[in-house]
Amino acid sequence: MPSIDLQRIKRERGVDLTVWPPRYDPVYRPQTTEQHWLPEIECAAPADRDEVILLKLKRQVSYAWERSPFYRRRWQEAGVSPDTLKSLADLSRFPVVQKSDLREAQSRAGPFGDYLCIDPAEVSRIHGTSGTTGLPTIFGVGASDWERIGEAHARIMWGAGLRPDDRIMICSFFSLYVGSWGSLKGGERLGATLLPFGAGVSGQTLMAVNWARRLRLTAFYSTPSYALHFAETAKREGCDPRSFGFRTLFFSGEPGAGIPATKRLIEETFGARCIDMGSMAEMSPWMTNGECQYRTGMHLWQDLVYTEICDPATFKPVDSGCEGTPVYTHLERTSQPMIRLVSNDRTRWTSGSCACGRTYPRLPDGLYGRYDDMFIVRGENVYPSAVEDALRSVDGFGGEFRVVISRQDSMDELLVRAEYLPEKNSPEELERLRLTMRDRLRSRIGVHPVIELLRHGSLPRTEFKARRIIDDRDLYHRGLAQDRK
Ligand SMILES: [Zn+2]
Repeated sequence: MPSIDLQRIKRERGVDLTVWPPRYDPVYRPQTTEQHWLPEIECAAPADRDEVILLKLKRQVSYAWERSPFYRRRWQEAGVSPDTLKSLADLSRFPVVQKSDLREAQSRAGPFGDYLCIDPAEVSRIHGTSGTTGLPTIFGVGASDWERIGEAHARIMWGAGLRPDDRIMICSFFSLYVGSWGSLKGGERLGATLLPFGAGVSGQTLMAVNWARRLRLTAFYSTPSYALHFAETAKREGCDPRSFGFRTLFFSGEPGAGIPATKRLIEETFGARCIDMGSMAEMSPWMTNGECQYRTGMHLWQDLVYTEICDPATFKPVDSGCEGTPVYTHLERTSQPMIRLVSNDRTRWTSGSCACGRTYPRLPDGLYGRYDDMFIVRGENVYPSAVEDALRSVDGFGGEFRVVISRQDSMDELLVRAEYLPEKNSPEELERLRLTMRDRLRSRIGVHPVIELLRHGSLPRTEFKARRIIDDRDLYHRGLAQDRK
């Protein structure tokens, strides 16, 4: 029996962790003044909570072993099975799953892949990836999984400071993209009022501004790039984004809300809390990387999705304070469980405490890059998020930028095309701005960039995830650069 009193949690919080998958009372909610949805777990001594996590993990792994040819085959090849999982540390001996493995399984055993553990007729929702990097991956989600996603998101949104009296505007695509739906589901379970506004239709941002003006909304969900685009649109309409009255803006889909200068900018622009969230669409509940209202970096809500921060080559967990890539494992999934799915995001974790009292591990700098997004210029590893952070810390930066990497006379050339604010007019002011940007970037990324200044508004804004890096070098050169590493 675990040290945490599961019977008491069942009685007082309507969460039955003695069965698997857990059963949740769909009408339970804490008192509005309570800071935590499930304090007995969220604030537990980590070793005590780990006992509960191990119970869930064992059930999850046995379930996948019994029902999924995909997992059974891979685990047999690696010499692991439910019987070899005696501690949480044993999980690191299980093989990892890459997104390409999921695509391969779906092309072999379509449409859902042989990691679908329920009857296809029991799939109640289909979502998927956009397929920008290959064949789209199809998510088949069972009805009970969808309810549990709502439970998890409501609990984490509560931690972000959202309450039943919040009115939440969701400004992202309502399509295959699971981010919008996950926020909607969590917000509804929390008891808030939801405005599923959407995005992507021509003229919709202006409409969104007008709706936000009329409705006295208190919270906003989108990608960070889109929130800044929304604010610019409002300002063009003569409307101060602070006047909307948002208290909380929460984000996923991009690292921006965890990039310090972008976070500051969003908080100052809206006069509200900027909350960073998000793991991977495959992992929904994707909020299990989620900041609390103190915004000290995303907590890893380990009893919902168990996350190991691993060495990107060996996939063995790294120590607190070290850098690695998250490897995610579902703990209460019956349709398409992900067990050790590699994200390829880059992060650093810490076991240090947070003012909210939660004892979860934290990602103090968020997800600040991807191992596959990194580019190498003159031998330096450069991350798009570092360029963004450096530019946004410059007074007079106009909000949007592009990075163009090219090759001239056998040397890499880094061109940063950055906008300036309309107030900067004189040639002297612009030259000073250019030099400041150059120096800031130079000290941050270790490479001397060429800066080209553009008038505010010259570069297209995104309604979704921004793509700001253009690499014009030939593949041969890139291959060489990777080998030199
Ligand atoms: Zn916290």
